[in-house]
Amino acid sequence: MRHNLETHPVAGRVDDLNARYKHHSAHDVLKRALTDDQVGRIAMVSSFGAESVVLLHMVSVINPDIPVLFIDTQMLFQETLDYQLEVSKHLGLTNVQVIRASDAALAADDPDGTLNQRDTDACCHLRKTVPLENALGGYDAWITGRKRFQGATRAALDFFENEGDIRIKVNPLAHWDPQDIQDYIVNNRLPRHPLVAQGYPSIGCAPCTSKVAPGEDPRAGRWRDTQKEECGIHFINGKVVRGPLPKEDPVEEALPMNTIVTDEGFASDDWSGEFVALEGLSEDNAVALDLPSDADPTVLQGKLDGIDMIRVDFPSFADGRGFTLARCLRLMGFHGRLRARGHVIADQYAMARRSGFDEVEITPEMAERQPWDQWKARSNWQSHDYQSRLRGSA
Ligand code: SF4
Repeated sequence: MRHNLETHPVAGRVDDLNARYKHHSAHDVLKRALTDDQVGRIAMVSSFGAESVVLLHMVSVINPDIPVLFIDTQMLFQETLDYQLEVSKHLGLTNVQVIRASDAALAADDPDGTLNQRDTDACCHLRKTVPLENALGGYDAWITGRKRFQGATRAALDFFENEGDIRIKVNPLAHWDPQDIQDYIVNNRLPRHPLVAQGYPSIGCAPCTSKVAPGEDPRAGRWRDTQKEECGIHFINGKVVRGPLPKEDPVEEALPMNTIVTDEGFASDDWSGEFVALEGLSEDNAVALDLPSDADPTVLQGKLDGIDMIRVDFPSFADGRGFTLARCLRLMGFHGRLRARGHVIADQYAMARRSGFDEVEITPEMAERQPWDQWKARSNWQSHDYQSRLRGSA
């Protein structure tokens, strides 16, 4: 019998669904979400980006008639528009709905299509958030491809989320990691977005997406050189978030960062010396140095021999500059201890080690959220790459 959703608050249904499907697979969660009366009318939202084909394939196997909402910002790559048609046909999806900002809204707020150059938050709001909110008005739930590994703000992501006491958000891939995604695409012989092979591991609008260099964070090419990380169509703790997600969790920030991750496991910090900032560096105190991720390494030319330890700050998991900085320091001949400190997640450990870091420093809270077994999988970092896995050598 169909639940009367009006008399069953979203929060209670979400708790119930998470309790019931806690130990189920992504496929099971998706299947039940598409049929469970407690979820109600449901649509999938897809960008037809680099990894979207995984969830689209799962949906097509269960029910190819489910509405799939595709937000066309009218700023997308032509390759994405072509890929959307190709994938929809390949998977037999029968109900893909293209969502766009209205002509009136575009004429009023972005008549010449240059808003993205002045105010990306406003542009995303106009071209993504508002059209999506309007489209979701007729649904009780929507399916997203968000995953825990995508950052600290998603580290505790559940399968079912309460979206502002209005709708349920379903995240079937919450527990998947990048390798699971790659394996699924390969094993099911799914078509790849053509731009992935051209250096775009994360694909958004053309004006706001650039190529990513080997070793950089996969999302480093999104809104490059800005503080923006998200388009603002997401919701945190049940509240609509307009504009970018908060850069830092203030509670997390206040905690001491004293859990050290190495190839051997978690340890407490054995470094008791003082750290100096770049501005305070002198020949007398050059023992341990704190560097921001955007530091210019060339200012350390000729000074590295006197430094025993360098700690590079990672203000956000999506800020890949720290990896580049580490590589530069090693190329310049720095042989001391190199530590990545802050918002580094387990999935980035192999990249951190390959970039030249010896260790990672995180808060006890982050260590609790991502226990050692999640880091351990990457501690064999020399062989932790996709090609070696395919060869069976990892
Ligand atoms: S990603 Fe860029 S072009 Fe696309 S909607 Fe946002 S600001 Fe505008």
